[in-house]
Amino acid sequence: MTAATPYAYQLLVKRLLLNPVVDAPDQEIVYRGTRRHTYRDLRERVARLAGALARLGVERGDTVAVMDWDSHRYLECFFAVPMMGAVLHTINVRLSAEQILYTIEHAEDDVILVNAEFLPILEHIRGRLSGVKKIVLLTDDEARPATTVPLEGEYEALLAAASPDFAFPDLPEETRATTFYTTGTTGLPKGVYFSHRQLVLHTLGALAVLGTATSQGRFHRGDVYMPITPMFHVHAWGLPYVATMLGVKQVYPGKYAPDHLLELIAREGVTLSHCVPTILHMLLKAPGGERFDLSRWKVLVGGAAMSTALCQAALARGIDAFAGYGMSETCPILTLAQLDPGDLALPPEAQAVRRCKTGRPLPLVEVRVVDEAQATQPPDGRSTGEIVVRAPWLTQGYLKEEKASERLWHGGWLHTGDVAHRDDRGFLKITDRTKDVIKIGGEWVSSLELEDILAQHPGVAEVAVIGMPDAKWGEKPLALVVPKAGAAGIDERALRHHAHAFVEKGVVNRQAVLLEIRLVEAIDKTSVGKVNKVALRQKHLPQG
Ligand code: AMP
Repeated sequence: MTAATPYAYQLLVKRLLLNPVVDAPDQEIVYRGTRRHTYRDLRERVARLAGALARLGVERGDTVAVMDWDSHRYLECFFAVPMMGAVLHTINVRLSAEQILYTIEHAEDDVILVNAEFLPILEHIRGRLSGVKKIVLLTDDEARPATTVPLEGEYEALLAAASPDFAFPDLPEETRATTFYTTGTTGLPKGVYFSHRQLVLHTLGALAVLGTATSQGRFHRGDVYMPITPMFHVHAWGLPYVATMLGVKQVYPGKYAPDHLLELIAREGVTLSHCVPTILHMLLKAPGGERFDLSRWKVLVGGAAMSTALCQAALARGIDAFAGYGMSETCPILTLAQLDPGDLALPPEAQAVRRCKTGRPLPLVEVRVVDEAQATQPPDGRSTGEIVVRAPWLTQGYLKEEKASERLWHGGWLHTGDVAHRDDRGFLKITDRTKDVIKIGGEWVSSLELEDILAQHPGVAEVAVIGMPDAKWGEKPLALVVPKAGAAGIDERALRHHAHAFVEKGVVNRQAVLLEIRLVEAIDKTSVGKVNKVALRQKHLPQG
């Protein structure tokens, strides 16, 4: 840069580390409740990690993949890898070995950092990895695991041997920082990618909303943060970047187990987390879980619709549960369902309805609800259409997938494939995925609304609604219901009766009276714990 050039400040991931290291150098970052580092350590370890990776031959533009549970190591990778100009590939460790192989090859990974627990996956696919040059071990144990995978060393030893100083380059802000694969339930996984600029703007956008709330759904400097969304799932929704920039205490839980998570919340004083509804449900139902005080805990629930029944159960425990919406393609956060101050005086049932709405857009996020002709629908809380968005942090497309990228960005808006309506306060409410909508005799019935209604029955543990082919109506809703253990008197008739009462009250479209109910033992889930409707259709509907 010449002296005459005005300074073009690039929005780089490394800038997120400036303040916390100065303002909160002694703040803690805890792993599993056993290992503790400070932000000063984080800064040093990030530099050592970059040095160690450089020694292994990692250069700008290379791709470094991670296979780990949520850990302090993963947080270090969130920073070190992009900061040195490489791309971080967060591998979804819950995919099948074949799918993992596909993503490693497709992303052209050069180096993999792998938790000892996932070595068997690499053993299985090792012979088919064409571009991976080095593999590094991540482990909590002293002992080296027996494996046929050639390891370049162990993470801590490599860090110890590296210099604590690393000159992180000044990159163009458009440099690719991260990539990962959507957890699609059909077809091959699709890669999305984000630049430094996008991650920084997403961090600031999320903080602008979370940090300025009057009380409910607020993330502030006194909070203690723990993700319960895997770090491979859309950068744990970007919250580790927000937490680090704020300089708050952070807790990384390792592998998720309900008891362990509840204990960490209590012992480490966790006040803010985020998770999919299935995990919140699991924590609330954990045997003996009532002994943990959760009344200081705020939880952002997203990735799937939170039912009002689940929200009320959380409120009854004193938890500040509220919905957020986003997707892999959107970095991810688009909207948050924070209440307006006056709403806090509402009774829990009414509050739950608002907290379960899909929320209002973050700053810089433009949202439209459009019909098939792309005309904007009125914000009347009824007229549904597809959500299309624009924001500075949306993926430019799918990696090496031109056609799919064009479809995603058709007409200059990112098409979410989610169906919603919007009310006069700007709150969106998702009613379905476009692929999941149920059309009964030409009328749309919302599967999510039906699920919400059935979940309010005291005998229902879990429910998913799918459309089943019907000769007369085209489609009919089929509810697959897991009864609560020990629930007496729950049968198909009782549940239909329960749903019909809501139809009578006009809560749901009249066509919903055609609802069929089937009691099942379990509901299939995706790799990130969401209801897997594709699998449910395959299992419960006639094929062909
Ligand atoms: P993924 O890319 O796996 O994170 O999935 C994104 C999808 O999850 C979205 O397109 C929505 O269909 C769904 N989703 C995320 N958040 C919500 C929410 N709050 N309510 C309903 N569906 C949601």
